[in-house]
Amino acid sequence: MLTAKLSNGKIITVAEKNNLTFLRHLRKQEKFYCRQCGERVILKLGSKRIPHFAHEKGSPCLERFEPESEYHNRGKLYLYEWLQQNSLSPQLEVYYPAILQRADVVFAYNGKTYCIEFQCASISEQEFIKRTKGYQRLSLNPLWILGGKNIFRKNRQKYSLSAFHYLFLQKTSSNQLYLPAFCPETDKFIFLANIMPVSVRTSLANIFIKPRNFVSVNDLLAPSFPSFPSVDSWREEMKQFKTTFFIGKHIYNSPFLKELYSLSVNPRLLPPYVGIPLPSNPVIEESPFIWQTYIYIDLLAGRKQGQSFSFSDVNLSVLKRIRKNQLHLRSFPNIKQSLLPFALAEYMHCLVKAGVLIKGDGNTFYIPRDIVPYCGFGGFEKEEERFYLQFSFQQNFDGREYF
Ligand SMILES: [Zn+2]
Repeated sequence: MLTAKLSNGKIITVAEKNNLTFLRHLRKQEKFYCRQCGERVILKLGSKRIPHFAHEKGSPCLERFEPESEYHNRGKLYLYEWLQQNSLSPQLEVYYPAILQRADVVFAYNGKTYCIEFQCASISEQEFIKRTKGYQRLSLNPLWILGGKNIFRKNRQKYSLSAFHYLFLQKTSSNQLYLPAFCPETDKFIFLANIMPVSVRTSLANIFIKPRNFVSVNDLLAPSFPSFPSVDSWREEMKQFKTTFFIGKHIYNSPFLKELYSLSVNPRLLPPYVGIPLPSNPVIEESPFIWQTYIYIDLLAGRKQGQSFSFSDVNLSVLKRIRKNQLHLRSFPNIKQSLLPFALAEYMHCLVKAGVLIKGDGNTFYIPRDIVPYCGFGGFEKEEERFYLQFSFQQNFDGREYF
């Protein structure tokens, strides 16, 4: 903790009096109390760690169950100072008794009150949602910022992301998904944007790293990200994913593959538009190769020229797969609308652009030519080349005309 109460009820913040001599003197004169439980706390002054308050061992205070690391305390302090430099009047460690929660830093901006949760240790999805809803109940806006050391980079555009990482996702006004993070060790903000999952754990993404003092509050609250991961990297990753997928032991009892074989669909010769990167892909936990295959077999494979289906057919087919536990939706506590319709609309839009479908009136899609399986890899590779030549990421696509 970086704040405590004095005997006279005043709040002392180490940030404002970050002066060892002063604090040493104060420690001789004063007693300090936890703002949350009222118990005595100790002011810890060392040369390596930033000054902070701590409960005595064995204290029943909730604060002790989630002890804060040096990394967390330093990050909290830097974010607080950054908001001060931006001429806002932030408050450090604000406790809300009604919800039994303590925000790391609270500030007001453009008529809204934001509660920063600088989260460095992994917490459960339930806890994340509970705290998010707690703030919302008090009409406060939670602002989750991930501790930067939790970002695991595999190579330039490739990251290992767990369910915990995905909880932090936010959406820009142009529907780009991003994860805000801050690292007090490098003193930089980190934005992971345009996250395109290849598999459950691996994702391509763009990283934007900016020193704290070059980031404005608006950059944090309403960022925009101009570039997308390269299509070539995507093709390479997807190829690798499929290679591993088809040699794993699981393939002998994979219900997914069994279903494909029962329909005489060769999973190695699916069309190139199965397994493509779309901005809303993170919404479904499974690889886009899996969920786009389901759409392919449910609505496209073997269909004849002139046949049609509607957007709600697509939606229903995916919901059915979710009910059967074949697909799973990720939860994004910070994003209010459901992203599934966006992901499906992006996919349909892409199929229309690639000429696989023609969009008719309302939200109907027609099949312009028979959808037949490829014979042999030569045909597949040529098709894939042709498909990706015309493929591009759709910026500012809001999908509403589709649903
Ligand atoms: Zn306490």
